[in-house]
Amino acid sequence: MGFLLYPVYAFLVGDTLIDTGTNRADHEFISALKGRAVARIINTHHHEDHIGNNAGVQAMFGIPIYAHALTLPYLDNPRLNKLRLYQRVVWDWPKPSKGTAIGSSLDAAAYHFEVIHSPGHTDDHICLYEPERKWLFTGDLFCGTAFIYLRQDENYLQILDTLKKLAALDINVVFCNLKGAVENGREALLKKIFRMEKLRDDVLKLRDQGLTASKVREKLLGKEDSWNLITGGHYSKQNTVDSILFGKRPDEKQ
Ligand SMILES: [Zn+2]
Repeated sequence: MGFLLYPVYAFLVGDTLIDTGTNRADHEFISALKGRAVARIINTHHHEDHIGNNAGVQAMFGIPIYAHALTLPYLDNPRLNKLRLYQRVVWDWPKPSKGTAIGSSLDAAAYHFEVIHSPGHTDDHICLYEPERKWLFTGDLFCGTAFIYLRQDENYLQILDTLKKLAALDINVVFCNLKGAVENGREALLKKIFRMEKLRDDVLKLRDQGLTASKVREKLLGKEDSWNLITGGHYSKQNTVDSILFGKRPDEKQ
């Protein structure tokens, strides 16, 4: 529509393309790759704003796409991902593409990627660690040091566990699909972990004092706002509190 509503990054590392953005920006994305060498795609997870130009880039270069085995059915049939109205307006379903299950590591010219299964945002999510350069590609797992809104199909405590596992690595730069390159990446992960642990502890403390889940949300995170409204409750502050209280994804609490 000619303006930036919401950013999503993809990274070209040597000749490896990590994620392919949204198909709403397909012309810009494909033209940005013209004249470049791309030998493979790696998808961090199956969401529509990460596999959006898989088909176009795969056809352009005739290259393989690597992803977690759980991601592959969504590449084959993107409509398995049930998009809500706001997602269809902003991103829409990508075209099908053909994927291959990624192993525990991948060597790509001058780069070596260790593949780390990193559930919490989605079950199929992987992060990529380049140990020589101390780079960590975090897909949608990091997304900044603050934590306010949880997506209905995310798991707060699982995200926290995964971030702790990742923070054990020696990291210079985090490459985040929402924030771009984040210098002092390990410190950023530790800051997020600290904030998430504090929020978890505060939520449990208020629950133990007898507050209901909605009162806990109001006291710690305030009223719901436009995120809840625009996404029809897909992203909300209450999801965050509920996931902490019930220890699983808000859409599983029944
Ligand atoms: Zn995602």
